[in-house]
Amino acid sequence: MKYNIGDKLYHATFNHHEGVYVECSDCGGTGRIRVIFHDETIAAIPCGNCSCGYDPPTGRILAYKSIEGADLLTITGAEIQAGEPTRYRAEHYILDEDRLFVIKEEALVKAKEMHDAHVEAETERASKKTKESR
Ligand SMILES: [Zn+2]
Repeated sequence: MKYNIGDKLYHATFNHHEGVYVECSDCGGTGRIRVIFHDETIAAIPCGNCSCGYDPPTGRILAYKSIEGADLLTITGAEIQAGEPTRYRAEHYILDEDRLFVIKEEALVKAKEMHDAHVEAETERASKKTKESR
């Protein structure tokens, strides 16, 4: 067992806030981008970066906000099962060992990793959805 009952540890957490809309960086919020063809013809086409499927471009894209945290908790119990990573109890929480840290900064690094992994999975899911609808 890595930690003991009574240890004060930081628990890595993140809050996944629904994305906030920000101005599209490709078209600057206009929803259109200009292309120049080989014969110097200039045309404005709908921006692909901020359009979703067949919907017209909105000029805005979804950006995720990252809110990491590290809660200081006192370990009140542990669950040990053969072949399973030890899980700890603190107040009404059940905590995974790999999310507990003695040093707050380390917990925040872990929280950031967890958040990034979550956003990556969400982005992948969103792009898959777009592809399937085509
Ligand atoms: Zn755009």
